[in-house]
Amino acid sequence: MNSILSILSEYTTTEGPVVIAGPCSAESREQTLKTARALSDAGIGIFRAGVWKPRTRPGGFEGRGEEALEWLREVKETTGMATSTEIGSAAHVEPALRAGIDILWIGARTAASPFAVQEIADALRGTDRAVFVKNPVCADLELWSGDMERLMDAGIRNIGMIHRGFKTYGEKRYRNTPLWDLAEEMRRRFPGMPMFCDPSHMGGTRGLVEPLSARAIESGYDGLLIESHICPARALTDASQQITPAEAGGLAARLTRALTAS
Ligand code: PEP
Ligand code: MN
Repeated sequence: MNSILSILSEYTTTEGPVVIAGPCSAESREQTLKTARALSDAGIGIFRAGVWKPRTRPGGFEGRGEEALEWLREVKETTGMATSTEIGSAAHVEPALRAGIDILWIGARTAASPFAVQEIADALRGTDRAVFVKNPVCADLELWSGDMERLMDAGIRNIGMIHRGFKTYGEKRYRNTPLWDLAEEMRRRFPGMPMFCDPSHMGGTRGLVEPLSARAIESGYDGLLIESHICPARALTDASQQITPAEAGGLAARLTRALTAS
């Protein structure tokens, strides 16, 4: 088993896909802890929450930064869940590692910048934490491959990829168009490297989360990164695509049943 999957499997109790779930953003201590507790009760073992939020346009909620890392530490202590967050620059690496975050991911905007990815790789050099790289916003296989190579060259072994779809001008159905063939090519290029799907940023709406998740799992993806908020309608970011913790638990259970029946 790839080592990233053995790390994650410690936090996954079922036979089904590895599910990482949690809010787009850690907005407050209460929202973070309530969401984590509800997800844990719903059988989800790995928590996600953005603490530094890369906003396309200025002026929106940009995350609570280092203060929120302490909330993630509390999630880990009180629920036993593994924790994950996005790192957008080399400056985020040290505080995230210090807060004991188990899984770090590089977001789609950062993944499109070789300078930023190289600086992050240098800051992470030699870490045994799990590091995922989302596909860059644009459909460029070489850019995504280069990101993986930069991490490997820095001696980071526990790495994986997340297909979150690609920005396509004029696209109406999806927020970010899934390009399944392109992601397949990445799996061919990096054999054995786990591939996850982020159906939340792909679909952009709640109703697309489950069908996209099912499609990914049918294609043999190793896991899912799903946005879930204790009260989706009140989320400060990505309100239209977040599902409740109970919905996330139901989705994981249905996918597990489908997987074990097949
Ligand atoms: C996120 O996962 O919170 C996020 C910002 O995603 P992406 O980089 O895919 O836009
Ligand atoms: Mn989001």
